[in-house]
Amino acid sequence: MNTAFEKKIVRVGDVVFGGDHPVIIAGPCAVESEAQIDTIVDSLSKMNVDMLRAGVFKPRTSPFDFQGLGYQGLSYLHTAAKRHHLPFVTEVMAVADLEEVAKYCDMIQIGSRNMYNYPLLRAAGQLDKPILLKRAFSATIREWVMAAAYIQSMGNDQIVLCERGIRSFDNTTRNTLDIAAVPIMQRETGLPVIVDPSHATGRRDLIEPVSRAAIAVGADGLIIEVHHDPDNALSDGEQSVKLSEFAAMINRLTAFYQD
Ligand code: PEP
Ligand code: MN
Repeated sequence: MNTAFEKKIVRVGDVVFGGDHPVIIAGPCAVESEAQIDTIVDSLSKMNVDMLRAGVFKPRTSPFDFQGLGYQGLSYLHTAAKRHHLPFVTEVMAVADLEEVAKYCDMIQIGSRNMYNYPLLRAAGQLDKPILLKRAFSATIREWVMAAAYIQSMGNDQIVLCERGIRSFDNTTRNTLDIAAVPIMQRETGLPVIVDPSHATGRRDLIEPVSRAAIAVGADGLIIEVHHDPDNALSDGEQSVKLSEFAAMINRLTAFYQD
């Protein structure tokens, strides 16, 4: 293990990962319509949120589920984010979409299911754009370190890692958050590591306590799913925090960090 690690900083616009406070990223699982993303982004812009998240290419288990709005969704998201000067991250699944999406977003997400997609990792390594690399739910620490190395080997060292839970024997939670992975990956790679309590737990009631655990262990940020009407969300409603409750949650998490 690399114990005398040098901590790297990754900048996304004015947002600093690996700096002096955890970065808060929030937004819906998916862009569902222009009205939906406008409502959520307008509201988040009044909270202590550093950056937005929303998917337009959704990696769904079933091909019959909502797949995302694609480039139309990207346009809605881009317009809403620019209106409030907030940077945003969105997922890309195909090499063919990387360059085009990179023209509009501030950070590219490579999701859990694509952490082993080596052509995608190499192509992301050729971009001059920060990459959010989520851990595959089946990945060992070494596999995750090597996935980041694929991106770095092509010249892109602007990588933020995201622990989002791994599969275990218990389905009380959607996945099992590997909290030790946060300091381990920080030491192994020097890269900033954030936590996704939404996909890690799959449960709205667990987002706040698990976020506190992430902050306590030294995570460089949180990425949290939020929706104005989670009961009618097209994806991941059960794990989305209600917009009306989110400002207070962030304030409590900020106070917890400052203590
Ligand atoms: C997401 O962030 O919307 C997502 C699909 O997450 P993951 O790749 O971790 O499952
Ligand atoms: Mn989701």
